[in-house]
Amino acid sequence: MAGLMKIAVPVFIASFALAAGKPLPADLLISNARVYTVERSQPWAEAVAIRDGKIVAVGSSDELAKYRGARTRVVDAGQRLIMPGFFDSHIHFLEGSLSLVQLRLDETKNLADIQKAVKAFAEAHPQAAWILGRGWSYSEFGRETLPNKKDLDAVVADRPVLLEGFDGHTYWANSKALALAGVRAETPNPPNGEIVRDPRTGEPTGALKEAAGDLLLKVAPQPSAEERLAALRQGMRLANQAGLTHIINCGNDTPGASDDQFFDLYDRLRRQGELTLRVTMSDYQAPDGLRAEDLKKIEADKRNHPPSDDWLAGGAVKMFLDGVIESHTAALLAPYADDPAKIGSLRWTPDHYKKAVAELDKQGIQVFTHAIGDRAVRLALDAYEEAATRNRTSDARHRIEHIETISAQDIPRFGKLNVIASFQPLHAYPDDDTMNVWLKNAGHEREPRAWAWQSIWKTGGHEAFGSDWPVVTLNPWDGVQNAILRQTREGKPAGGWIPDQRLSLEQAIEGYTLGAAYSVHREHEEGSIKPGKLADLIILNQNLFAIDPRKIAETQVLMTIVGGKIVYESPGLPQAKAATKAQVVP
Ligand SMILES: [Zn+2]
Repeated sequence: MAGLMKIAVPVFIASFALAAGKPLPADLLISNARVYTVERSQPWAEAVAIRDGKIVAVGSSDELAKYRGARTRVVDAGQRLIMPGFFDSHIHFLEGSLSLVQLRLDETKNLADIQKAVKAFAEAHPQAAWILGRGWSYSEFGRETLPNKKDLDAVVADRPVLLEGFDGHTYWANSKALALAGVRAETPNPPNGEIVRDPRTGEPTGALKEAAGDLLLKVAPQPSAEERLAALRQGMRLANQAGLTHIINCGNDTPGASDDQFFDLYDRLRRQGELTLRVTMSDYQAPDGLRAEDLKKIEADKRNHPPSDDWLAGGAVKMFLDGVIESHTAALLAPYADDPAKIGSLRWTPDHYKKAVAELDKQGIQVFTHAIGDRAVRLALDAYEEAATRNRTSDARHRIEHIETISAQDIPRFGKLNVIASFQPLHAYPDDDTMNVWLKNAGHEREPRAWAWQSIWKTGGHEAFGSDWPVVTLNPWDGVQNAILRQTREGKPAGGWIPDQRLSLEQAIEGYTLGAAYSVHREHEEGSIKPGKLADLIILNQNLFAIDPRKIAETQVLMTIVGGKIVYESPGLPQAKAATKAQVVP
C-alpha cells in the first residue's frame, strides 16, 4: 500500500508540471540520493536541481526529472547521503595552510618522539634557515607540562628552532632562536606574555607564553606573497576535500599570520576565479582600547567586503579576553584547582573592553570574543548585554569563541541575549591533554560545565561549530563524532566525558551548517538545502544516520559543490562503489 502511494504521488505531480509547462533545465541535477536538508519543514528528499549557482528545486527523483535538459549534468548519487556544505566557524586558514609545509608534531606522544621528528625534519631540510613547526601538546612534558630549550638543543644546536604548541598559545624555542631574538635573563616580559624562566638563574627556559612568542616570530623568516598564495591554494583543496564550503577566519595576533592582514591575497584568488570556499573575515583588534585608526581600518574592510558578499565578507572584529586553561592564562572567577595562587588574567581592562564592544555594536560591526575562562565568558556576556541596551540594537549576534568553562548562572544568557556560542567540538576530545592537564587545572567543580554544548543549546542558545585549525584538524568529521560521543577513538571514557553535554547527530550537523550560517547572518543564503539558497552541498560515502557513531570520523566526502560548481570530486562517484582510503587530511 505504502509502495503504491509512493509511485502514485510523483506521477500526479509530474503530469501536473507538464501541463503547467516544463521548467528551465538545471545545470546540475543530483538524484537517487538521501538528501538531509537541515530544514525542519522538509528534512529529507531524494533529489536537488541546481541552476546559476543556486538550488532551484528539492524533492523526489521523479519530481525533479523535469529539470533534466540536454546540457544538464546528471549525478546519480547511488543512495548516498547529501547534506549542505559544511562551515568551519572558527579557523585560522592562512596559518593552517602555511603549516602544511612545516614540521607537524600532532601525532607525537612524548618528548623522544618530538626530538626524533625535529632531527629528521632538520636533516631533510638542510637549506631551511629556521626549523619551524607546530602541534606539540602539554601532556608530552610530564608534570612540568612546559617544554625546555635544552631538549631542542640536544637535537639541533646550529640552527634556530621554533615550535608552536597545538593551541597556538605557547611557543618553544632552542637556544639559537632565543639568542637571535635577543631574549635573555634580563629581557622583560612583553605585555600579555611571559618568558618562562629558570627559578634559580632567571635564564629563559625556552617556553614562551602568549605574546612572548612574538619576540621570536618577529625575527623568524616570513613567507613571500607567492608562498602564501600557494599555501592558500593547498589549504582550499584540503578544505573542499573535507567537505567545507565556507570558512570563518578569526583574526589573531600572530605576526604575519592573521588572515585579515591578507585580504589582498584572498581578493586575488577571487579575481582569478580560484576561490572555491566562501570566506568570512574578522579583523584582529589588539588590547587594550579601540583607537580611531582601528575603527577606520575596520570600517574600510567592511566597506570593501560587505557582510552580504557571497564570497569574501568582512565587517567583523575578533578580540581576545584571555588565554588557555592549560597554561593558566584563561581568566577564572575563582582560582585554578591545581594552584590556588593562580586565577589567570584578562587581556583587556573590563572598562576598555566594554567601551570597544559598545562602539563596534553601534557601528553595526559583529564582535567575536575569545573567552575560555568563566570570568572572561561572563565579561563578554556583560559587554554584549550592555551594548545592546545602550545602543538599542538587536540581532547583532555577537559571538563568544571557545567557552571552555562557564558559571552555571551564565548558561541561559546565550539564549536570552542571542549571543552565539562558537564551539570547536574536537577541543573537548578526552585525551591525555584534556583529562590530565586541562581537567587538573580547571578542577572537578567546573567539570560538569566543560564545553556545555547541550546546556547552552537547551536554554535557546545558537551554536556554531568549527575546528580552530591548525589547533586541530580541519576535517569536520572528527568534530561531529566528538560532539556526539565525547569519547576517544579507543572508547574512553566509557559512556563519554560528561555525557549530559553530548549532542545528537542532528544538532551536530546543524552546528556546522545552519547554525554556523546564522552566526554570520547568512541563514537565508546558506546552511541548508532549500530552493533559493546557494548551491553548496556535499555527497558522503556513508549514511551518518545509519552507522555506528564511532565510524563518523572515517567519513569521506565524494563530492563538494560550491555555488553549483563541483570543486572536489573523488573517484568514488558516480559508480558509487566503496570509497577508497582517504587522502591525507591533516
Ligand atoms: Zn582560534
